[in-house]
Parts: sequence; C-alpha cells; structure tokens
Amino acid sequence: MVPASAVTMETKTTFCRICEALCGLEVDVADGRVLDIRPDPAHVATGGFGCPKGLKQHRILGSPDRLRTPMKREGSSWREATWEEALADIGSRVKHLVGEHDPDAIAMYVGTAAGFSVLHPIFAQGFMDGIGSRSMYASATQDCANKFAVAREVYGFALTQPFPDIDRVKCLIVVGGNPVVSKWSFLQVPNPSRRIRDVAARGGRVWVVDPRRTETARVATDHVFIRPDTDPFFFLAFLNELIATGGVNHDRVARHMSGFEAIAALARPWTPERTEPVTRIPAATLREMVRSYREADGAALYCSTGVNMGRNGSLAFWLQEVINAVSGNLDRRGGTLVGNGIFDFARFGKKYGVMTKRHASRLGGFTSVNDAFPGGMLADEILTPGPRQVRALFVTGGNPLITMPNSARLRDALRDLELLVCVDVFLNETASLAHWVLPATSPLQRPDLPFVFPLFLGMQARPYLQATEAVVPPDGLQRDEATIYLDLARACDVGLFGSKVARRAMELLSRLHARLHPERAPGVPQEWILSALLRLGGEGRFDALLGQRHGRLRPDHAGGDFLGKRCVTDDGRVQLAPPVLLEQARKLEADFALEGAGDARLRLITRRAVTTHNSWTHNFEDFVSGGRDTNRLYVHPADAARLGLASGDYADVVSETATVRLPVDLLDDLQPGTVALPHGWGHQHAAGLGVASRTRGVNVNILAADGADRLERVSGMAHLTGLPVDVRRASGPPDPGSWSGLPQGATSAGTAEDGRAGG
Ligand code: SF4
Repeated sequence: MVPASAVTMETKTTFCRICEALCGLEVDVADGRVLDIRPDPAHVATGGFGCPKGLKQHRILGSPDRLRTPMKREGSSWREATWEEALADIGSRVKHLVGEHDPDAIAMYVGTAAGFSVLHPIFAQGFMDGIGSRSMYASATQDCANKFAVAREVYGFALTQPFPDIDRVKCLIVVGGNPVVSKWSFLQVPNPSRRIRDVAARGGRVWVVDPRRTETARVATDHVFIRPDTDPFFFLAFLNELIATGGVNHDRVARHMSGFEAIAALARPWTPERTEPVTRIPAATLREMVRSYREADGAALYCSTGVNMGRNGSLAFWLQEVINAVSGNLDRRGGTLVGNGIFDFARFGKKYGVMTKRHASRLGGFTSVNDAFPGGMLADEILTPGPRQVRALFVTGGNPLITMPNSARLRDALRDLELLVCVDVFLNETASLAHWVLPATSPLQRPDLPFVFPLFLGMQARPYLQATEAVVPPDGLQRDEATIYLDLARACDVGLFGSKVARRAMELLSRLHARLHPERAPGVPQEWILSALLRLGGEGRFDALLGQRHGRLRPDHAGGDFLGKRCVTDDGRVQLAPPVLLEQARKLEADFALEGAGDARLRLITRRAVTTHNSWTHNFEDFVSGGRDTNRLYVHPADAARLGLASGDYADVVSETATVRLPVDLLDDLQPGTVALPHGWGHQHAAGLGVASRTRGVNVNILAADGADRLERVSGMAHLTGLPVDVRRASGPPDPGSWSGLPQGATSAGTAEDGRAGG
C-alpha cells in the first residue's frame, strides 16, 4: 500500500458494483491508485453500509495477476500482445468462420459481472447483432432465468419483477433465500439484517423457509425447515389453504387477472396434510404461516436461488407470484411493488423488441429467455455437428467452467472450439483455455450508473439515482467493454446493433470525445451515452447527477400504478394460468409420487460465505487463509453418525455425473437428510490466479447434469440445488494434482493438510 502521506490524497464517492446492494462508497485515491475504501455514511439510500468484498475490492483487483494487456495463448503458455495484434487475429478468424458457416456459429456467454455495468451488456449484444448471431447464452440459466421466463408469461415482459415492499411489509416469507449473506436479489437494498429486524420491530413477522437455519433465519421471527427441492408443493399447499380460508381478493382478481379458475383447480388437491410428508412442513405450521400472511396489513412471498435452482424453479416461482397476486398483495404498499425506472422499460421493450425475442434453440427444443439460450446446452451446441454448430465463443464477464452444470464436459467442449475469446479482469479457469484474453477495466476504472434493475426498472427499496466517474484510470492497456465491442465490430467488419452506420457514428463520437477530453481514457464516450440514457428518462445530464455525490432520491413507490396500467400482456391483465406453465404443472403428480416413494438419499444444497461472490473472490489471500482455503461438506450430526463421519474426516460426494472429495464439518443448523457444499470453488487449473489456484476447494457444479433432458423446460435452468447424492467416508485426502473436474469415478483436488474453517 502507498503511504498516504507521500502523495496528495483525494476522497471520491462512488458505488460498489459487485452485488445488487450497490453500496455507496468513499474511496481515497492518490497518484491514480486506490488507497482505501469505506462505506459512504451520507449516501441517500445505503448510508454507511458495506461488506468485506466491496471494501477490499481495490486489494483484490490490485493483485499482480490483474490483466493489464491482451494475452495470447501459445500451447500451454501465455504471452502479452498488443490490441492491434489481438483484434487483427480475432477479426480475421471471425470473418473466416462467418464466411464458411452460419453467423450462429459465433456464440457469446454473458456472465453475472457484465450485468453490473450499464453499457457492457448493451454493447456485447450490439456486437452479436452486428454478426447476426442468435447464439447468446447467459449465467441467468444457472440462477434466475425461471423468474424471467415466468414474468414473460404472467406480466407480458420478462423484466417485470415485483419485489417486496421491504420497509412497509408486515408479513414477509423468504423461501430459499439468505439475504443476510447474499444480499437481496432482484431488489436493491443494503443492510438486510437491519431491514429484517425492522419488520419485527414494527409488529410484523418474517418467516424463513429453508433446509438450513441460515443467517437470515437467525434474525427472522420464524424458521421452518423444508425438504430441499420440494418448493412447488409448499406453494401449492399455501395456495390451497389461502383459497380455503377466504384469502383471495376476488374483486382485484375480477378486475385485473385472468385464469383464476384454472389455478384454483390446480391447487385443489394439494392440502397441507397431503404435502406434509414430502415438504416435511407440518400442516399446522403451514396453516399458521398462511394465517399470518392473510391477516397482515401487507404481506409478501419472496424466493431466491434455493428455489430458482431446483428442478421446478419456474413452477415454484409462478405459484409464488399467483399467491401474491390473488391475495391482493401485488401492487400495493406493504405488499409487492412493480418499480418505476427512469422510463417504462416494459412498454419500450415490447415496442422495440428488446428482450422479447422467442428464438428456438438448434438442439433440445428450448425457447430463448431474455434473448438467451440455456447455458446447460452450450456443450451440446459445441460438440454436435450440423448447421449452426457453435465454433467460436466470446465469454464476457463470466466463468462458465466454474458456474455451469457438468463443467467437466464443458471443459472438453471448449477445447474443441476454433476460437475462444474471454473479456475479463483475470485469467480465470475459462480464460485459461482461451485463444485470446482481452483485459477489461474494473468497476472503479469506469464511469457508470446503477445497472438495469434499479435504473430501468426501479427495483429498489428506496428509489434513487447515482452517477460515478471512473475513480481511477486504467493501470495498463485495459479498455472498457463498450470500447472492446466497438473495436471487435470494426475488426470483424460488422455493424454495431446490426448497423454499420451506427458503428461509424460511434467511432466518430469516440474520436470527438478523445479530442475534447484528452484527460479521459480513449474509447467509447461512456459519459455521453449514459447522459443520453438519463435524458431519455427525463433525469437530466450525467454531469449534474455526478454533482450529487451521495445520490439523488427519486419519488418513493406509491403502489397501485401497475395493475390495469403497466401490465403489458396482450389484454393488459395478469395471466394467472399461462398454458405453458399449466402444461408443465402436469408433471407435478409424478414428481410428488417419486418424492413420496421415500427417496432416502441425501439432498445437496449450496451455501455462500460473506467473503465469496460466486467464483470471484478466492484470489485474495485474506479471504482464503487460515484454513479457509477450501470449501467443506456440511453434514448434520445425525447423518454423520449414520455415515460414520466425524468433523475433519474426508468424504466422497457422489452424483450421477461426478465424485468430489473434501473435508467434512458438522452443522446442526441443517435439516437432517441435507448436506451443504459452498459453490464457486475449484480453481486449480486457473492459469492466471496465483492465489486461488493453490486453494483446495472443489467445484460443486460438476455434480450437476447438463443436456436437454436435464434442464427445466420452461426456463432452461440447470438443476443445481437439492441434488440427490450419496456420501461416503473417504480414506484420506484426494490425490495431489488431481482436478475437481474429473469425470465419474475420479476425485477432486486437494493437497494440503486439513484445517478448520470459519464457514
Ligand atoms: S454488499 Fe458488499 S459486495 Fe455488495 S454492493 Fe455492498 S459492498 Fe459491494
């Protein structure tokens, strides 16, 4: 660290772009480097909140491993290259592939990191539109595409996502979510612990339904265990009981919704007594939960990844939305709200075809969701010959080798590609297989606005806007992603957003911007484009917003402005019983029978620590030292006794696709019959992660299956939680040098002695 006294220090305000909390930050900067980061106590919405990941991001990104130049792989080694060389080679390969094959042969995978910038996903899509390719894949099909697929059917637009009115709700039921550690998803709100305690403080009740007594459950008023992956039966019984006890607001239903009779008929057989043996939620407990929801002056059901990543994530989320709607809680203060962004994005999307396309996949019969195909089909699309076979892949802000199902198979597929290009800040596991890795600026090196959920959709507990400049300049040859995709479009001789005129206009603007602002990084004039977006929404200029350093509050949510006004289905009514979901619901009886047959296998769920964010933060010594250099298998003491396991033993976890070996910890917060394994590990083959590659953790997602018959039909989601697994005591640590992506029968990495973890 540079001693602060040696240089002139300046404190800048910005906001974190790692997770949806978007915490306001104060950043001490000197000599173009970040010295320290603190929460911004004066921020209009996040005042004084932050977490270790956001407050140490300058140290994570200050690693010697940070990409500073384009990198070219030559065999198993890497060399630095110029942008000119990289763009010329990529451009000529893409031109050749497009000349020889269908444009769909060029694919793109958009990762979660891309979503936390406004311009990154827009320009990445613009590049693919220029190529004329429909082969888009996104990380959403690992954790949230069910919500988009359902919203498209129910509300007419995938990004219409009602959220709980956290600051007024009186009964909040959180299913399969742990906001105290992961923060809220599909809702921008800081300090989740305090928000949950506040509900109880105003006389309300917060229920957490989860197979683990999570950190959120500990601050909630009530916790209810549920057998993993039985969520649709919980929601069906909830709806059944709600209807049976007169909890339906028939006036609202009649005025604003269609399909109630069909949904009521669907729920009729699913009494709390019937579902109890499968969900393991006692009927009396479920009835008490429904009563507290029904009688509260404002209630909301909310679910997250524990539901999304199950076998029936779309059905479960659909039923949740139906309950919130028919109970009269949708579109009311204290219930669930549909936010107002800076403009009506749903109407804009419907009018201009943004995120509304329904492309058919080449294989598997999937329909695109948010203009993207299931990630769990990518290996098949690469490995299966024929027209539209994927031959080149751009990976932007993602690490699919860690996050996708059956990533051992995906690894083989990526090796088959004629061109793999990664745009990232580190040379991670996926990039290690790439032909080219292009260095992107980090969040603190680029100007921005809050990302699409808060900006265009108002998905915030307290609506506000904030602008940030680039807090520090690039410290190498890094370029922002908008510039990278403009450069790639030129190198490949394709248009931007499908138009060469648009590309040339952007090039002209970039040159003009460079002439007027020689002090800024050259490239796409990001501030001008962000300013244009703000003006489109009547929010003034970017510079003016920048002057409001701690953010600018927007009008608070009023509720009552969605139903009959902003619902963009064909008839403007909420569709409670879309045919595609009713059709999918036919499988529930068979699934229920299977569950009822008494599958005694353990169910594997995931878990996250506050210092991890998917696969991002393990290349930082502070977060992986002191025995925290591995994930662990958490086992309930009763299950451990049955399996002959003790804390510190090694165990093999066996699924249909792979076996991983790792140390065991006992955890009595788990529901017996459930084991937990944190995700985002398995970095041993990352060429450019000097710290993470020495960790011992295993990649939990190699235990999940990919391919058409293993993905959820409506959304294309992979089944990544609630997996049936066998657990056996292992004789000792895995062989040194093995990798966590080895196929069935092999074991995973891990070389050092076991240490104790903090969880
Ligand atoms: S909770 Fe942490 S990672 Fe998320 S935005 Fe805030 S500081 Fe960043």
